[in-house]
Amino acid sequence: MTLAETPNDKNSSNPFLTLNYEPALESLGDDYYDEVAAAEFPQHLLRWRNDELLPILGLDPQAVTDEDFITAFGKFEGRKPLLALRYHGYQFGEYNRQLGDGRGFLYGQVRATNGELYDFGTKGSGRTPYSRGGDGMLTLKGGVREVLAAEALHYLGVRTSRCLTMIETGLSLWRGDEPSPTRSSVMIRMSSSHIRFGTFERLHYFQRPDLIQKLLNHVIEQYYQDLSTEKDKYALFYAQLVKRIAELVAQWMAAGFCHAVLNTDNMSITGESFDYGPYAFIPTYDPYFIAAYFDYYGRYSYSYQPSICKLNLEMLQEPLKSIIDQGDLEAGLARFDEYYQAEYRSLMLKKLGFKELQHPQTEELVNLTLDFLQDSQIGYHQFFYEMARTFSSKWRDEPAFVLNASDIVPVPGASAIFDNWCILYHKILNDFDLSSIDGIAQTLADHNPKTVLLRPVIESIWEAIAQEDNWQPFNDLVKQIQSRQ
Ligand code: AMP
Ligand code: MG
Repeated sequence: MTLAETPNDKNSSNPFLTLNYEPALESLGDDYYDEVAAAEFPQHLLRWRNDELLPILGLDPQAVTDEDFITAFGKFEGRKPLLALRYHGYQFGEYNRQLGDGRGFLYGQVRATNGELYDFGTKGSGRTPYSRGGDGMLTLKGGVREVLAAEALHYLGVRTSRCLTMIETGLSLWRGDEPSPTRSSVMIRMSSSHIRFGTFERLHYFQRPDLIQKLLNHVIEQYYQDLSTEKDKYALFYAQLVKRIAELVAQWMAAGFCHAVLNTDNMSITGESFDYGPYAFIPTYDPYFIAAYFDYYGRYSYSYQPSICKLNLEMLQEPLKSIIDQGDLEAGLARFDEYYQAEYRSLMLKKLGFKELQHPQTEELVNLTLDFLQDSQIGYHQFFYEMARTFSSKWRDEPAFVLNASDIVPVPGASAIFDNWCILYHKILNDFDLSSIDGIAQTLADHNPKTVLLRPVIESIWEAIAQEDNWQPFNDLVKQIQSRQ
């Protein structure tokens, strides 16, 4: 190392260290977090950098080196304080006060070029006071899976956190749910916030309405800015949160996504989706599909997600009661189903090629589609992709022409539901002018990508990494997702 290359110089030229950091949460005081130190890793191999996120941070991807990622987010040089956030939460219905950031911390909060405040949160960065018996680490496979989920969901129109980078860290980890020893990683998640429902639940547990109000003011000021000058901003905040969560879960449902761990510590106060562990995209439309092997009773199964999110919102009323009138909380929550249905129908309609339909027809088409998908057990994503791939103006001529060039047609006459579905779809197409056909084809293409993160796809990506350290399939898959293929 020459004199000109002292570690300090390296850090001061690292673009990640000179971003617009704001001590937004830090300035609320240490009731909400503990200052922690990051683990030191034996190795730092940059496995993923999300260059798509750099422009909104005001950075030019060309000007950011792999070494910049590694020194900032693998070695954690030059940034303090690192804050493990405190929270509790209901896990599978049981209150757990042994939570908090057990393998991560808030690295920093950045004001982006769009004016929004973003959290950089780590996952797999070492032990904290909340690690309990855990090692504070993230498996490489866990990192790969979260990167993929976040990108896929983002491109499916789900409001989600995304991963900024993932670095392999050279440790051997032992896990009950992966062949072990298994490789390790540290990941940086960029999200609108890491404040959870469980952050408020913890403050309620300690009977600190003063701290609840302080945090709520912060949340409204940063993430519900439109409400910050309203007289009844607290009630409006809850009503808005209900809407955001209802729409989020509708986005998951239309995307065929099962989050798998909808504990209240995994519910963001900004209504953003985050923390992707044992998630899965449904292979077929099965309402009782369970993604997590430890979800023995199917509490978080695919079609229970809306009611579980509603229940989580209801439980959040407990800590908010000291600040928001009970009647306002109830009135806010009462609109959940309406918001959910409106968003779900609108998204499903788009998957079927339509931006808008008359109401009774929308409901009929969506319901009949779901009946068919459930009855036939045809691939959920495959069905919509085949719609997009084989759509033709000829479908207007005869019900029997609908989907007839696709790979998924049941034998004609074998399924009365399919026949009825074709009759309905054909009828709806004929309600449109011929000039609308290109628009329908485009809507189908926009909402039904070919690339779907079904479990076998992720497993094959992981096998290439695990067996041959071959990252090409992973990189190719992310590129396909990001180019909406
Ligand atoms: P999660 O299931 O990832 O949402 O985590 C639930 C809780 O367990 C959080 O408090 C995590 O920080 C903690 N946790 C999960 N895995 C580990 C680990 N390997 N070491 C320490 N804490 C962990
Ligand atoms: Mg979590």
